Amino acid sequence: MKSIAILGSTGSVGVTTLDVVSRFPERFRVAALAAGRNVELLAQQIQRFQPELVSVASAALAQNLAARVRPLAPTILHGVEGTIAVATHPAAKLVMSALVGAMGLSPTLAAIRAGKDIAFANKEVLVIAGELVTRAVRDHGVQLLPVDSEHNAIFQCLEGKPRAALKRIILTASGGPFRQWPADRFRSITIKDALNHPTWRMGNKITIDSATLMNKGLEVIEARWLFDLKPAEISVVIHPQSVVHSMAEMIDGSVIAQMAVPDMAIPVAFALAWPERLPLAYLPPLSLVGCGPLTFEEPDTGRFPCLRLGFAALEAGGTMPACLNAANEELVAGFLAGRLAFTEIPRQIEAIMNRHAHGPARTLEDLLETDGWARRAAREGIAAAA
Ligand code: MG
Repeated sequence: MKSIAILGSTGSVGVTTLDVVSRFPERFRVAALAAGRNVELLAQQIQRFQPELVSVASAALAQNLAARVRPLAPTILHGVEGTIAVATHPAAKLVMSALVGAMGLSPTLAAIRAGKDIAFANKEVLVIAGELVTRAVRDHGVQLLPVDSEHNAIFQCLEGKPRAALKRIILTASGGPFRQWPADRFRSITIKDALNHPTWRMGNKITIDSATLMNKGLEVIEARWLFDLKPAEISVVIHPQSVVHSMAEMIDGSVIAQMAVPDMAIPVAFALAWPERLPLAYLPPLSLVGCGPLTFEEPDTGRFPCLRLGFAALEAGGTMPACLNAANEELVAGFLAGRLAFTEIPRQIEAIMNRHAHGPARTLEDLLETDGWARRAAREGIAAAA
């Protein structure tokens, strides 16, 4: 029986994680859950999985939750301290890190320092603090299991192979809803257009990132840290069918791919059960005949500059990826609030990166300072655009 804690239990990956757990009650137990503001769903999760400890965003939400779950009485905490308590719950062997954005950084680092294995779905944490996080992973001897479908695919392709045999990785991208849109239509893209992802159902932030291709820019940086790669060892190809989840090219010319139906239950279950595998017989099998021709094309960084910005931030190193991430988080929130145009997202990120006096990222404080600066710059940019 493996006890787990989930950071972000009411988000898309958190819900998928609990669905997998519910199908294998003899294998997994839920020790602790951290959510944000969705107390209604969290209350249902508490009734169903009976964790000992939960955490929500604020004291008021904690009170609201306590009233909903009586007579059950889990310990209910709130704020960053609450999230860290969930991440370090003594019973938890594995922590599913599935918060969105920079807020996952402190609890994920706390979990690593407490010796927990990490199922990693919160890519922004590695984008901001890849060096700190991977050093902590080495120092504490914990296992990092990628949940992001592309990185989970690479992990599977490389398992059991010597690092020296790898030439490069090839990350696939669906291309998002605007893959075939002409450049002159991008200015009129609406929130509804951008949330209409062709192959994956995900949370709002990552769906917008997929539409701008920033998701792939962030994933390039995530891959650098997960697999200890140089920028030149990472390439991206557009693959609209989302069947090949990524590939590893070996030095002898062999290209190893991982394929599956696009369902996050597969990488989630892989990370939960590793090194074993779970029988996910409830999912439809991948039909090679039914999924149609598989196609691959070069990404267009003219219409999708965010991919280029991801590589640029990786090349610059230091605090630049944290700058890129913070500006992107704020500008995506601004777009989702109807306060700026879709095309302003890459334009303003690039302007903020150009103004950032970037330096080495030695400590968490260096990174948080950059994070705060880039957020302020982005909010000023949004206010000026409105
Ligand atoms: Mg992904």
